[in-house]
Amino acid sequence: MGNTKYVFVTGGVTSSLGKGIISASLGRLLQARGYRVTIQKLDPYINVDPGTLNPYEHGECYVTDDGAETDLDLGHYERFLDIQTSQANNVTTGRIYQSVINKERRGDYLGKTVQVIPHITDEIKRRITLLGSKDEYDIIITEIGGTVGDIESLPYIEAVRQLRWDLGEENVVFVHLTLVPYLSASRELKTKPTQHSVKVLLESGIQPDVLVLRAEHELTRDLRKKVALFCNVQLDAVIQSIDVSTIYEVPLLMQEEGLDVMVLKKLKIAEKGSPELKDWKEFLNKLKSSEEEIRIALVGKYVELYDAYKSIMESLTHAGVINRVKVKITCVHSEMITPENVTEKLERYHGILVAPGFGDRGVDGKILSAKYARENKVPFLGICLGLQCAVIEFARNVLGYADASSTEMTNITKHPVIDLMEEQKGVTEKGGTMRLGGYTCALKKGSRVQEAYQLDLVRERHRHRYEFNNDFLEAFEQNGMIASGINPENGLVEIMEQTDHPWFVGTQFHPEYRSTVLNPHPLFITFIKSAIEYTG
Ligand code: GLN
Repeated sequence: MGNTKYVFVTGGVTSSLGKGIISASLGRLLQARGYRVTIQKLDPYINVDPGTLNPYEHGECYVTDDGAETDLDLGHYERFLDIQTSQANNVTTGRIYQSVINKERRGDYLGKTVQVIPHITDEIKRRITLLGSKDEYDIIITEIGGTVGDIESLPYIEAVRQLRWDLGEENVVFVHLTLVPYLSASRELKTKPTQHSVKVLLESGIQPDVLVLRAEHELTRDLRKKVALFCNVQLDAVIQSIDVSTIYEVPLLMQEEGLDVMVLKKLKIAEKGSPELKDWKEFLNKLKSSEEEIRIALVGKYVELYDAYKSIMESLTHAGVINRVKVKITCVHSEMITPENVTEKLERYHGILVAPGFGDRGVDGKILSAKYARENKVPFLGICLGLQCAVIEFARNVLGYADASSTEMTNITKHPVIDLMEEQKGVTEKGGTMRLGGYTCALKKGSRVQEAYQLDLVRERHRHRYEFNNDFLEAFEQNGMIASGINPENGLVEIMEQTDHPWFVGTQFHPEYRSTVLNPHPLFITFIKSAIEYTG
């Protein structure tokens, strides 16, 4: 197992306290001190991966370069740490049980009763330590999804309890995140839920080393003392995490509170230097000080849930910072857009982004948005289904194929400009069977996208079953919509752009999975740049 050390992050009291952001922030601070860090998420649900979950259930599905469909927290890890994660960074109960049941069927446990302890817990431990087995990391942070006390979380809590002894006490630290609610009637912050949640952890045999308390108001020293006393932790291991205006401020807040120092101390790692956060601070200063507002319409059908388009929103924010503008994103519900109201819905924006999606709900609104952007020369970025809608629109209204469509929506068309990929034709199972992960894309010389990337070959991540139908490519190109990115191995169209337009780009891949704080994505940067130019 080498010299890798482990930080386990659990959550108590309620869900949605921001464990992912705290883990990512701690990761960033440790990395900024020169340690090799990665972060893993354990999800207690029984789906094998979140690929089969509706975004309303669990927010965006984040795709890694190796083609894993994962929890959106992995997006935070990549954006904060500027690292690549992989399938090994996200484990679900479904995946754990699937492995154990497969082994049982193979006869690996022949003669034995297969049980939660030790078989399920052993598999959890194997998955946790797998990441550390190649000695690539000094520190691995493992975030345990859910809330302590949930039935589903129990095997995970038990597994990490065992790991403290398997790996050695000095190699493991437990960080527990809770909520300190504020009662406005009595104007008091209350610590009792935290005490109870620590008690629940103790019942499972875990004494947390560090407590991170989410609160809307500053914690007084007395209150910290009380928590330390009742929860049996050191006073300086009681860390406050107060609400902030941007998630990118959290690493600096955690540094002020000494979270990284405390974790290093508990892991008996000698502190080397202080965190190098110059670039991060610069990013944050620009984020806060940019004034000019650029309004972007994000046209999608999951707009009720903020988390459904997380990576797109963060990518737009990163690109705004580079361009020194404040990007104001408004979600426009694609189902509400009609030919009569499209102008009224979209005229106030400097750029239109049509989001990815599945199925035909809201597609008409997306097609109308693409038409509006084309005709009015508004900067446009279409991602995956967004590109497909732009293609359908162009086929119908420029090429004159009135029935043009995607075979995802209908089979009754003479112009299936978007069609099922050849390799998808025999696929019947839904889980993990799309075209997933990183593929190479060759950029056309002199195109807008090549100018944006300043590269000839790029690698971008995918998640789709349908593709641009190359039978129609000539007609598109002759009329001003060109394939400016092509997969060099199989000729699949990856990017299309319109030549008679200031900036109209659609990508079959998802650029949003690759934008990080320190490396914002070139397509988002140029999209925002053209939106600025559009304002005149
Ligand atoms: N539904 C489309 C496809 O499967 C687009 C997918 C997406 O937008 N991610 O090809």
